[in-house]
Amino acid sequence: MCEYGWCATAHAATNHSADEDHRSPGVAIRARVRSVDSADAGDDVDLEVGILRRADEDQSWLVIDAGRGVGVEIALDDVPRVVRDLVRDTTLRSVAHA
Ligand SMILES: [Zn+2]
Repeated sequence: MCEYGWCATAHAATNHSADEDHRSPGVAIRARVRSVDSADAGDDVDLEVGILRRADEDQSWLVIDAGRGVGVEIALDDVPRVVRDLVRDTTLRSVAHA
């Protein structure tokens, strides 16, 4: 049993050290991924979003895995601030209702 209620890792099921990291169940979302250097619209892909807390770290991460070796990790403590700042931006709010 893991100390984190959100953790779905089967701890101690193998001897691989990465199996001791704490991972939430992934949530699949459809998104668009593109190179920041590209002018095209990019590709529609399925992303997996979840929470990761490595056994040797003292913080958790919001992990966005795009496959093909591409992923982003955002410190979980930063996520509420980013969302709050985006919601407070009235210009961005108007886009959401367009
Ligand atoms: Zn765990």
